[in-house]
Amino acid sequence: MRSCRGCGGEVQDDFRFCPHCGKAQRTKIVEYFQGHPEVGDGGLRVSVYLTEPQHARLSVWRGDEVEAAISLDPHESGRLARFLLSVTKQPQQSFVSRVLSRL
Ligand SMILES: [Zn+2]
Repeated sequence: MRSCRGCGGEVQDDFRFCPHCGKAQRTKIVEYFQGHPEVGDGGLRVSVYLTEPQHARLSVWRGDEVEAAISLDPHESGRLARFLLSVTKQPQQSFVSRVLSRL
């Protein structure tokens, strides 16, 4: 447990936002995506900044060096997420799901 910097309320360590006032408890959240191994790409680091101005910083890494970076505002970040979801192959439905969907 820790105290919220906004309202002083108790917040569990793994909470990203205060359940009392909604203030972001972290300044950013980072996720690393490995490049395609057959192509020999590096990786993509995505840092989502929760403070103003909110944005997502995408940086392309090869080894220990950044080759390129760009920041997207929340609207463009959402558009990118929807685009990736729309073109990504969805896992096949199980036999039971297919049968149930026909009922
Ligand atoms: Zn709070």
